[in-house]
Amino acid sequence: MTTATVVGSGPNGLAAAIRLAQAGIRVTVIEAAPVPGGGARTSELTLPGVLHDDCSTAMPGAVASPFFRSLHLERHGLQWLHHDVVVAHPTDDATGVVYRDLVRTAMSMGADGALWRRLFAPLTRNADAVFDTAFAPVVSFPRHPRALLQLGLRAAPPASWWARAFRRPENAAAFAGIAAHMIGSLTAPLSSSVGAMLTTALHAHGWPFPRGGAGALTSALLAEFAELGGRIELGRRVTRVDELGTDVVVLTVPPRTALTMMDVPAGVRHAWRRFRPGPGAFKLDLAIEGDVPWRDDALRRAGVVHLGGTFAQVARAEADVVRGRMPGHPFVLVTQPHLVDPSRSHNGINPLWLYAHVPNGWPYDETERLLAELERYAPGARERILAVHTRGPGALEAHNTAYLGGDIGGGATTLRQLIARPRMGPRGFATGVRGVYLGGASTAPAGGVHGMCGVNAAELALRDLTR
Ligand SMILES: Cc1cc2nc3c(=O)[nH]c(=O)nc-3n(C[C@H](O)[C@H](O)[C@H](O)COP(=O)(O)OP(=O)(O)OC[C@H]3O[C@@H](n4cnc5c(N)ncnc54)[C@H](O)[C@@H]3O)c2cc1C
Repeated sequence: MTTATVVGSGPNGLAAAIRLAQAGIRVTVIEAAPVPGGGARTSELTLPGVLHDDCSTAMPGAVASPFFRSLHLERHGLQWLHHDVVVAHPTDDATGVVYRDLVRTAMSMGADGALWRRLFAPLTRNADAVFDTAFAPVVSFPRHPRALLQLGLRAAPPASWWARAFRRPENAAAFAGIAAHMIGSLTAPLSSSVGAMLTTALHAHGWPFPRGGAGALTSALLAEFAELGGRIELGRRVTRVDELGTDVVVLTVPPRTALTMMDVPAGVRHAWRRFRPGPGAFKLDLAIEGDVPWRDDALRRAGVVHLGGTFAQVARAEADVVRGRMPGHPFVLVTQPHLVDPSRSHNGINPLWLYAHVPNGWPYDETERLLAELERYAPGARERILAVHTRGPGALEAHNTAYLGGDIGGGATTLRQLIARPRMGPRGFATGVRGVYLGGASTAPAGGVHGMCGVNAAELALRDLTR
C-alpha cells in the first residue's frame, strides 16, 4: 500500500492528508505542537470559559474553498455562524458598511453603490467559477476563462486605483480594509486581488465563524480524516525528511524551513532562498465585560471591524510596515464572534480578537498603540477589559514555527511571490526530491484557511504516482 506523511496539521496539512487518504493512500500527519490545527485553534487564552481563536477566526476562504465544500463538514458537527453586518470600517466622520447582501450594501453606499455593483456583482454571480480559478495552481489551464477575465480586470490594478473611483471616503476605506488583508503595498499591481476575492466570498458565501471557534473546523477535518483511516502524531517535530520513509511527503512549512529538512537541487534552493516572509502581526486577545462601546450601531453589529481610517491612511500604514517602519496609526483588525456565538463567552465576559500589521520581527510591545486605536472609535472600551493576552511577532513564531518573524500569510505578497509561489512553473509544489512536496501557505494560492495549497500539492503528488 502507498504511504504518505503530511508534516503539519493546519488547514493545508489536513486538507492534503484527506485528499491523499481519499485516493486510498495510508496517511500519517505529524504535528510538532501538542494540539492539532496550526492556525485553526481555539483556546482559553485569558479567563476560564472565554474561547479565543489563537490565529484565524473569520473564514471566508473555508466556505468558498471547493475542497472544503466538497467534504460537507456539517456532517461532523461544523456549523457556520454569520453576521448581518460583515465588515464595518470607521473613519473620523462616518462608517463604511459591507453587508452580506450585495444589493443592500450597494444601496447603503449611496453615490458609490453603482461602482460597488459593477466591481462585485459579476464576480458574485459567477462565484463558483471564480474560486475554482483563483484557488487553482497559478500556472494551470484556466477552466473558466470568463471568470478569469472578470477577476483579472478587477484584481490586476492597484487597490489605490479603485479607491480613487469612490466618491465617499468611508466607502473607499471599507474597500481598503478588505484589500489590506493582503498585508502589502496597496499601490502595487495586483494589490486589488485579495480585496476582489474576499469581497466576492463575502457576498457569495459570507465571512462566517465556526460555532465554538476556529478549532471546530480542525475537529471536523480530523473527524473526516479519521473516517478515511488516517492517523495523527502530536508533539513530534520533524527535522529531516529522510527520517520519514514514506512514498509521499507533504511539508506545510515555509521554504526556508524546508531547506533545513532536506537537500534540494540548486535551482530549487535558489528560489526558496529568495522567497521572503511578509510583515508580521501583533495580536491581542481581550476578555471584555459585555460589549465594546462602539460609537455607532454598524460597529456594534459587525463581525469584523477594520480600524485605520481613510484609504490613504490605511495605505500609508501598510506601506510603512512593508518598509520595516512601525506606523503611528497601524491597520487593526477586530472581530466580535460572540455576537452570533454565545458559546464563546462566559458569565457575560466576551472574547475580543484584534491584531495589527507590524514590520516582520518587530520586537516592541504595541499593546498600548492597539488599545488607543480601539478607544478612538469605542470610547470607554478600556474600562471593560478584564484580561489581556498578547502575542507579538516573536511569540507568534514560538507558537507556530511556520510564522517566520510573525508573518501570518506564508510569505510577502510581492508581485513575484503572488505569481511564483514559492517558485515559478506548473511544478511549483515539487521540491526536486522524488515524492516530496511543499503544500503550506507559502504555496499557491496563498495564506488563509481554505486548504487549497495542501490540496494542490496532494493532486500533484497523485499525478506523479500514476506516471
Ligand atoms: C493571528 C492570525 C490571524 C489570522 N487570521 C485569519 C483569519 O481570520 N482567516 C483566515 O482565513 N486566515 C487567517 N490567518 C492565516 C491562517 O491561519 C493561515 O494562513 C493558515 O493556518 C495556514 O495553514 P497551513 O496549514 O499552511 O499552516 P499552519 O496552519 O500554520 O500549520 C502549520 C503546522 O505545521 C506545524 N509544523 C511546523 N513545522 C513542523 C515540523 N518540523 N514538524 C511537525 N510539525 C510542524 C506547526 O506546528 C503548525 O501546526 C491568521 C493567522 C494568524 C497567525
